[in-house]
Amino acid sequence: MLDINKIRVDFPILSQQINGKPLVYFDNGATSQKPQVVIDAIVDYYSSYNANIHRGVHTLSQLATDAYEQARNKIQTHFNAKHNYEIIFTSGTTESINLVANGFASLLKKDDEIIVSALEHHSNIVPWQMLCEHTGAKLLVIPMNYDGELLMDEYEKLLSDKTKLVVCNHISNGLGTINPIEFIIEKAHQIGAAVLIDGAQACPHLKPDVQALNVDFYVTSAHKMCGPTGVGMLYGKEEWLRKLPPYKGGGEMIATVTFEKTTYADLPHKFEAGTPNICGGIAFGTAIDYMNEVGFDNIASYEKELLEYGTKRVLEIEGVEIYGPKDLNKKASVISFNLKGIHPYDVGTIIDKLGIAVRTGHHCAQPIMDFYKIPGTIRASFAFYNTKEEIDLMIDALKKAQMMLS
Ligand code: PMP
Repeated sequence: MLDINKIRVDFPILSQQINGKPLVYFDNGATSQKPQVVIDAIVDYYSSYNANIHRGVHTLSQLATDAYEQARNKIQTHFNAKHNYEIIFTSGTTESINLVANGFASLLKKDDEIIVSALEHHSNIVPWQMLCEHTGAKLLVIPMNYDGELLMDEYEKLLSDKTKLVVCNHISNGLGTINPIEFIIEKAHQIGAAVLIDGAQACPHLKPDVQALNVDFYVTSAHKMCGPTGVGMLYGKEEWLRKLPPYKGGGEMIATVTFEKTTYADLPHKFEAGTPNICGGIAFGTAIDYMNEVGFDNIASYEKELLEYGTKRVLEIEGVEIYGPKDLNKKASVISFNLKGIHPYDVGTIIDKLGIAVRTGHHCAQPIMDFYKIPGTIRASFAFYNTKEEIDLMIDALKKAQMMLS
């Protein structure tokens, strides 16, 4: 059982007022808030051991290198990767996906196929489109039904010996759908295709086990899971990371350089050119420690309560439509909805005046909005530090906005 009042004290930002009202932060899908331990890790790094890593023999450089590599080990343990060098630090999910897409440019040929899903964030669509433009490969899409669930029988029909890669998010940021990634991975492997799973929305809610999933690539961003922005990771199976060429050239990723020829460093440094976000990587490790201390089982059961309560309360509002799975066991703690006849943006603007932070718009998932023929949704995404009382405040605010706008 979580002691929410105690947990909320860990997040200094939550106790403030916005527009004279207590802040209700329901934009966790965009980015989570940061506990004091993560903020302290950042301050501590810059106050006491800021130095460049992997290069210096001096004490501070060694302290920073040790802390950064320790963070890599924490991430390895958290995701249950076989080796720590299968964890590549990146600037986030977007960069991780671009890294893999860039690498596949040398492995694909014309008429090869990449399968994406109808539920993807733009960052798991556009890099693959760019890759297709570059190679002549084709992009196929797993369709979804009106409940925002991917159609697995249609997926199976898309698979063929031309399929080289299947990419899908673990949890949809637009609707909260938890996708059947175990099935997706297994079926792709049966025909010899690799699979990349975008875990940006899953990692705040659950603890993926990359070996149990047998996934080839798994990517995420620290900032969705209590860590800082500008850092994330790519997990890649060793055999794949060895197969892919480097993404960026520069310092740190080389073994030897002459003007005639450069040889590349071993994993993971081959993919980590230049000075990385050292402090961000270290604080990512702290965030993972913090979330594990809270406990993912606790997080899952409490967020389920919030989702059930929030859904029930949102459905009390007249003329509301919630998008995404009706079966709440198939979704994360996200409620994506609209009020009939009112633009989501207008609702978001008014409830902000009442202290409520939700996201409105297409959530970087325009194809989902096109599917429903809507300009966007109001998305309330809950984290383990949110409360039912906050949901009540949102409902009151939504009712007020509805009255003002209709
Ligand atoms: N994929 C999904 C499912 C997301 O929700 C997000 C962030 N909204 C991203 C990818 C992109 O993450 P980032 O901006 O941290 O690179």
